[in-house]
Amino acid sequence: MDPARVLVAEDSLVVRAVLRRHLEQQGCTVVEASDGESALAACEAEDPDVVLLDIEMPGLDGHQVLTALKRDPKLRDLPVVFLSGRTSTEDVVAGLALGAHDYLKKPFEPSELIARVSSAVRLKRVQDELRSRNVELDLISRTDPLTGLFNRRHLDERIQELASTSARLGVQVAVVMFDIDFFKRINDSVGHAGGDAVLKEFSCRVVAQIPADAIAGRWGGEEFLVFLPDTDDERALEVANRVRLDVADRPFSVDGGDSLPVTVSGGCATSDGTDPEGLVRMADAALYVAKESGRNRIIPSHEPTSGAIPQPG
Ligand code: GH3
Ligand code: MG
Ligand code: MG
Ligand code: MG
Repeated sequence: MDPARVLVAEDSLVVRAVLRRHLEQQGCTVVEASDGESALAACEAEDPDVVLLDIEMPGLDGHQVLTALKRDPKLRDLPVVFLSGRTSTEDVVAGLALGAHDYLKKPFEPSELIARVSSAVRLKRVQDELRSRNVELDLISRTDPLTGLFNRRHLDERIQELASTSARLGVQVAVVMFDIDFFKRINDSVGHAGGDAVLKEFSCRVVAQIPADAIAGRWGGEEFLVFLPDTDDERALEVANRVRLDVADRPFSVDGGDSLPVTVSGGCATSDGTDPEGLVRMADAALYVAKESGRNRIIPSHEPTSGAIPQPG
């Protein structure tokens, strides 16, 4: 069988020793628990693939242990095989009804023990595989394929989350909306593939210039959003200008060819987290002002409390 990590939860020392011997012969790693409480603790701490669970045990019995596992979102899928001297059909039915994967009657045949544990291990492997595929798929569905940044779908969710955290903690959250200037002309001069290369390079520069806890994503086309947790107007403007200057100061290289001057405009806004959609709208409105007033600049939706708005330079 596939070598697995088996938790043997059984109050009889003798039965535990017999189970250990049979399972170890199959290459399994065995973890033991002698009562219900320690079985539950071991499910959490030992990351078993399968639990072989006695029913009659001191303290929490096997039924109570399984019920507790089913209530825990992290442990509810852990396959449990009951191993019990209660052998009536009613006992078996009751055990399976609680959500056990299988039921083995004592005294057991070693080959049957191994067959039932193997089947539970196979189930666990399939579940683990599915779970990791789901995590991968979830990430893909939140990633912009061109730039590798988060996409709008993820940004929409994160801003809601960030805003409610900010409101709860009583801190500000900032949003910067960037839009590359005259991107149509860039496409016209270096072609669509060249334009794509500029979008990728721009994304790298954004990521390099923003703090580690910031969240950057592609909002659409040549528009990018950055969320800055626990950030006030002044700091948001500073971060946004760092990106802007890095873009303006170092021309882009497309296909290792001629250097291409690129500029970006941005709008930033901050709030206490009460209106996340309003926050994005405010950053967008400020971006519009940045475009109208000459591009290659960042406009905050409120005047910062101190200092002037840095202008192109
Ligand atoms: P402005 O300074 O006012 O922002 O001018 P602009 O030309 O950047 O703005 P506009 O919104 O008119 O044009 C954006 C262009 O971006 C149009 C579209 O063809 C191009 N674009 C959108 N998505 C992509 C993409 O994935 N790759 C490339 N190469 N171009 C894209
Ligand atoms: Mg017992
Ligand atoms: Mg645009
Ligand atoms: Mg543009």
